[in-house]
Amino acid sequence: MTRPPAAPIYTALSIPTVTARPSLSCLQWSADGQVFFLSKGSVYILTPDRGVHSNTQAPGDVQASHVKWFSTMIDFNPREFHYWPADSHEWGTLALGSMDIGLRAISCSPSNLTGNGGCIAAILSSNMDLSLWHADKNTIKGEWAKLCEATPLIAELISQGPHSKVEQTLRSQMTCLSWSTHADFAITPSPCLDSSLLATGTRAGTLMLFRFKDSSLEHVATVEITSKWITHLAFSRWTTVHAGESELMLSYGAADGSVGLVKITQALSSVPSSSGFTLDYAIQTNVEKSDASIFQTSNTGITALSWIFPQQAVLVRATPGVISLWSDGSPTLRWSGHRTLNLCVQKISVGSSSVQPVSGLHYAHHEDALFVSLFDGSIHVIKSLIDEPELSNTSQKLGDQSEGLSGILRATFARAEKLKVSKRDVNRVSGMIPYDDYSVAIWVQESAQPANFNYKYDVLHESTFIGKPDLNHEPLTSDMILLELSTILTSAKASSGSTPLFILRSIFLHLKDLLELRPRVLETLIANADTFPPSPVLPSWSGETDPQFRTDFRNSLKQYLFGCNVLLSLRLRLSIAEFCWAKYDNVNRWFLTIISFVVLRVLCRHASAVGACIQESDLPFLMRVIVQASLPSAPADLRADAETLTNVLASNIPAFSRDSFERQGMQETCPACGLPVYLESGTEGVCSAGHSWSRCTVTTFLLSTPNVRTCVGCTRKAFLPLSSRSSASAPNWLPPPAQSWVVEELLEAVSRCLFCGNNFASIF
Ligand SMILES: [Zn+2]
Ligand SMILES: [Zn+2]
Repeated sequence: MTRPPAAPIYTALSIPTVTARPSLSCLQWSADGQVFFLSKGSVYILTPDRGVHSNTQAPGDVQASHVKWFSTMIDFNPREFHYWPADSHEWGTLALGSMDIGLRAISCSPSNLTGNGGCIAAILSSNMDLSLWHADKNTIKGEWAKLCEATPLIAELISQGPHSKVEQTLRSQMTCLSWSTHADFAITPSPCLDSSLLATGTRAGTLMLFRFKDSSLEHVATVEITSKWITHLAFSRWTTVHAGESELMLSYGAADGSVGLVKITQALSSVPSSSGFTLDYAIQTNVEKSDASIFQTSNTGITALSWIFPQQAVLVRATPGVISLWSDGSPTLRWSGHRTLNLCVQKISVGSSSVQPVSGLHYAHHEDALFVSLFDGSIHVIKSLIDEPELSNTSQKLGDQSEGLSGILRATFARAEKLKVSKRDVNRVSGMIPYDDYSVAIWVQESAQPANFNYKYDVLHESTFIGKPDLNHEPLTSDMILLELSTILTSAKASSGSTPLFILRSIFLHLKDLLELRPRVLETLIANADTFPPSPVLPSWSGETDPQFRTDFRNSLKQYLFGCNVLLSLRLRLSIAEFCWAKYDNVNRWFLTIISFVVLRVLCRHASAVGACIQESDLPFLMRVIVQASLPSAPADLRADAETLTNVLASNIPAFSRDSFERQGMQETCPACGLPVYLESGTEGVCSAGHSWSRCTVTTFLLSTPNVRTCVGCTRKAFLPLSSRSSASAPNWLPPPAQSWVVEELLEAVSRCLFCGNNFASIF
């Protein structure tokens, strides 16, 4: 065999840890753009520095520093576990995993679920316990804390049913889990609600569905599936049936190797909210189990279950040495029914075997190929998923065939280990995921010598986390990068809740090319960037400013500020422009101005609709909105909105006079010396004695408090919302002119950066 050429290593990170179990959940992306690596004792959370602006540099090996990583971790405490014998003494309920408790599986929720707009990690232990984790203050570098221990809640829920004690225990013992993405209901602007589902399989053969609610889980449905354990779960993608209704397939694998389907339909219904200002949305979930088995039983058990999408959904089941595929016969694929492909052994090292567990499954659209990576460090390529799936072992082109790719993986292992690697060294790969849709992958590899019985190889494990391009030997051309960029800008969906860091990860990887291609990148970014999202149409409201109304007002702001695809696309454009070029470059200013105009329009329309509730204390902020929206450079309809708001204020506030309130509203007193500070820039304020203050980019007031949050993407700052106070009696940190209910609700609604759309991190 020809020796494969060396491909550059983008990054190599050494993680001293106990061993990792090979599975599809060992390594996964979250929708916040972070990679979760599950080892037996901890979860490592790694964030590529691309797209992140931070005061501190990400640590990284100088030799292989194309991408550096910020890291944090979930420190799992193995001493906190559910004591099953207290529920039942039957042998059948014995949890063998409780003798040496470790982590079995992890599934990340879609983003925008927590109060600070982040993801939640659902973790399953070997004791069959389920817990939820989140980052309270800083997703990238901060602590991830336990949000909820779900096992007692689930056990309590099941104990209300008619089952025997043994049955109750088996129904509470969870064996696998998967978290779906948010459903897309094709409504613009997309309502701010959680339409994702967490599915868990149990030892009693039941499937449970939950939704995240108030820091805990709300039970949605339980489906009786089989008498065997459920070992694998995989969600397909949501398909919008019509506006307001979305459906998907959930596949489950049982301990006997059989695989079946459950169809889940979610329908959105809306009723006027109790205050009457907006609509309240409720989701009706319907679960329908299909009686027919997709894959029959297998003597060997399942090692992986996943959906891939070569134009149409195809279900993939991996059993030792065999990949089985199923498609329901859609017209876009030229085959239907079942296909079984037997993997061949690739003799790379003494540990090579085709019956090793699967550690990665990735379908690459551009090549119409499924890449299957096994624990023994081999890669198996299945080509032509659209025409007729076949194993690719015979192609003349080195990079196209399974052995060629395994050879590249092995060569990278040898270079990263910086040792002479012999046949006795096995490059175990316990997780592999794509970095982009083309040729860059990241994987966890570990050196092992299974034939060496020295104790060292059982106690010392070091996993290396690697990203490497050219898995397919086709270097990306600039046209491909620009096409990818243009596709992302036109297809990104606000309803997915994903952050720009995640959506743009494959673009940020090619930073060098972006810089070289500046004129063409700018052309792509500017194309169609002057389209505005639809203006809010809101009913005029004149009730009480009670908590119910304030919640509705906040949700409506949130929906218009973060639920529009057009606005998300503008934020993506600004993220790229700001990351590549100086923050206040002309082009960046242009995107910034358009986003500001959209935000000002949302604010003008909302304030005009609730004119009867506006008080004098709201005027310093609203005058700033009016002045910015009336600038000669603002679009005519925005100036008209500002005019309407001025008239609304004049008719509702007897003492209103535009000139005097504008003069008062546009100045603040310097917190250091008391001299006036005028609103001349949106980012900072300076008094005549030279004291300089940052401004809150949401409200434009001076940030004279440590209770501040900073955007991880662009470092813009904003006040923390008052709901993050430790208690309701804690002091209000907003400066006097910002102490207004409109400002408070706006700060609550802005859970992400108004400009680049990424999450905030805070210290307090
Ligand atoms: Zn001063
Ligand atoms: Zn930002």
